[in-house]
Amino acid sequence: MKFGGSLLASHHGVRRVGDIVERTRKAGDEFVVVVSALGDVTDVLLRAASDAKSWSEEKILEAIEELRRIHLTAIEQSSLGKNGKAEVLRNIEASLERLRETLLGISILKELSPRSRDLVVSFGERMSSPIVSAEIRSRGIGSSSLTGGEAGVITDDTFGEAVPIHGATIRSVRRQLMPILERGAVPVVAGFIARSKDGEITTLGRGGSDYTATLLASSLGADEVWIWTDVDGILTADPRVVKKPFTVPQLSYAEAEELAFFGAKNMHPLALGPARTAAIPVRIKNGFRPELPGTLITKEETKSRGVVKVVAVVRSVGLLTVAGETLQGRPGIAAEVFSALASSRVNVLMISQSVSEANISMIVRRASLRLAEKALRRELKGRGIAVEGDPEVSVVAAVGAGMRGEKGVAAKIFGAIASRGINVRMIAQGSSELNVSFVVNERDADDAVRALHGQVVNHVRGSRG
Ligand code: ADP
Ligand code: ASP
Ligand code: MG
Repeated sequence: MKFGGSLLASHHGVRRVGDIVERTRKAGDEFVVVVSALGDVTDVLLRAASDAKSWSEEKILEAIEELRRIHLTAIEQSSLGKNGKAEVLRNIEASLERLRETLLGISILKELSPRSRDLVVSFGERMSSPIVSAEIRSRGIGSSSLTGGEAGVITDDTFGEAVPIHGATIRSVRRQLMPILERGAVPVVAGFIARSKDGEITTLGRGGSDYTATLLASSLGADEVWIWTDVDGILTADPRVVKKPFTVPQLSYAEAEELAFFGAKNMHPLALGPARTAAIPVRIKNGFRPELPGTLITKEETKSRGVVKVVAVVRSVGLLTVAGETLQGRPGIAAEVFSALASSRVNVLMISQSVSEANISMIVRRASLRLAEKALRRELKGRGIAVEGDPEVSVVAAVGAGMRGEKGVAAKIFGAIASRGINVRMIAQGSSELNVSFVVNERDADDAVRALHGQVVNHVRGSRG
């Protein structure tokens, strides 16, 4: 069972998590708990890490104070008694002190490496896990808290987006967690963080605690993964954009992976991989309404009556266009473009090229747009090719297995978009035919989502979320 940061930091969130754990335990289930950092603690830590280079000690103390407040509130609202609270507080204070020293180090050296950034952000989950573990113990259930690395998640050393080493992880997760489970206790594992072979702290990338949960589940041969969050499951659209989306009752791994990639529910894009490989069903459930069935993700591909199940948006992207007549009929240009981007370590998220070959359009992360433009200008200099970057765009994606082989889907989708007078800048369809994605100006993105949700999304069997 994985508990998300939104749920943990909600009013009486830790107590609510304790209730769910206690109830599941009474039902006779054996399980491991994975936690995220509380609320937006990871964002606070990331900001602190990058700003610490220019911060005075006073600014560092302010950030520490903000984190102290968030954790104190969660502890205050837990069901821990006086002694329990005091004990877990000491633990948090010790972490805050180590964090203060780390940030001070960065500010003195004026240097932040990916390795030290991972060390800084790891404090989020390292502070939430002992709180949840103490809450479970306060209910008379044995529990110990472990970091992701202590639980056995081993990765390479790509700090910030570390890649799990599967064989080593399976062996060490079993070695670390089995004895705790056999004692009848509940391990509480800090999600998102892991350790490299050299024992250094790494992180799996944003939304990584869902990934930790599926990695542990597949290593232990679990029957199911339950992801507890603050909404009823995977919804037909982002509830912050569409007023009353519906809950999608069932998705295939492939559909859910597509959605994770397109940013629905901020899930790590690789999080479903281990569950799919081991054929472990994943349930997304609402911690505020545990009686609801939520969304079940399995290998079954149900075709819904409508073709589109969910509309998702990727923000923080940029559109990169390479255009010029000299592109036409010149084999190798595309290869040149993509190798130039690859050598600058720019990841290309979407590609399209017209038959006329007069231009290639690409979507990259907004943070790497300028770098990408520079790399291409350098590569294509003096060849009559224009390189242009537009940072103010978003990708909208319509996802659903029902689209495969279905005629007229594109007409419906783009008809809905045209009816709102929205200009489409670029279109792509994955070869899996599980999604149609297109690029619009950022200011039109929410409108495009609402248009699609109103006119194309299937909400026949879902319940209102
Ligand atoms: P957690 O803290 O549980 O990990 P996340 O921040 O990862 O939660 O994601 C949950 C949030 O994602 C929801 O509160 C919701 O606002 C947002 N969200 C956006 N799109 C969707 C979607 N299609 N289905 C469900 N949630 C979505
Ligand atoms: N705390 C991490 C993040 O915010 C991991 C997670 O919540 O899944 O990205
Ligand atoms: Mg999350």
